[in-house]
Amino acid sequence: MKLVKSSAAMARLSAKWDRRVAFVPTMGALHAGHVSLITLARKKVGSTGLVVVSIFVNPLQFGPQEDLSRYPRPLADDLRQCRSAGVDFVFHPSAPDMHPSASSVVVDENALALGLCGAARPGHFRGVCTVVTKLFHLVRPDFALFGQKDYQQLAIIRRLARELNFPVAVVAGPTQRERDGLAMSSRNAYLTVEQRRAAGALRQTLLRGAALIRTGERSAARIETRLRKLFHALAPNARIDYLTVVDSINLQRRHRVGGRVVLLGAAYFGATRLIDNEVVTVPNS
Ligand code: AMP
Repeated sequence: MKLVKSSAAMARLSAKWDRRVAFVPTMGALHAGHVSLITLARKKVGSTGLVVVSIFVNPLQFGPQEDLSRYPRPLADDLRQCRSAGVDFVFHPSAPDMHPSASSVVVDENALALGLCGAARPGHFRGVCTVVTKLFHLVRPDFALFGQKDYQQLAIIRRLARELNFPVAVVAGPTQRERDGLAMSSRNAYLTVEQRRAAGALRQTLLRGAALIRTGERSAARIETRLRKLFHALAPNARIDYLTVVDSINLQRRHRVGGRVVLLGAAYFGATRLIDNEVVTVPNS
């Protein structure tokens, strides 16, 4: 495994790729969710292809009140996990290298990114889109792997790749979970014991919403009311950001659910904001 520390070195390498490349962008603090994407990346390109992982805590996607400075950066452990997962290249640039202070160009997605996490975290998806655009140019992957856990991000990246004509197939990996169903996240490490116990409520609530739909409920408003009530009962000290049901492709909310929809939730457990989702195909719609 080779560690690539600058964007210039990455660009030089990728200009000469003569094998298929699968790319997993991350912010590090790797857990089994990231490793599952690395495993999927290897499956996509086989033993003759190359698997590239980036580890970059992207300052552009953090708001001023967010956790940029305390975001975990256990690089030695991350590299160990990459090595044992069979990664070929780890790209680990510095922040000034990726975003020189004189930078003036950003990439905005202006439909899917406006609501949900985009409303709660202004500028977040601009930061994501800008860095992913740069990473795609630097790494030149054939496949890029993203987790379904970050559902809105995945939808936005699919659109970005299509509209900016990147010759990359965006591949989604299923959400890896803890035993109580909590989606694995680098941010789970921030939770106190009590918050950690309560955090399972997000998953339980979304599963209940999916069950409601499967058993015939079609009113988005009624589903959302039930979700809020259940979540409050399970985690009275947590604060809901959103609990909603939207179309799985355009993320628009309709009064009646139909087709393929996704239940999306975001909630604060103390200062820690966690997200999760559940996709449901509405029967007979
Ligand atoms: P992050 O390091 O949080 O930026 O995440 C890097 C990639 O890993 C993103 O595509 C995430 O969607 C994905 N990811 C994060 N958590 C999980 C999980 N629990 N299961 C699967 N993929 C995940």
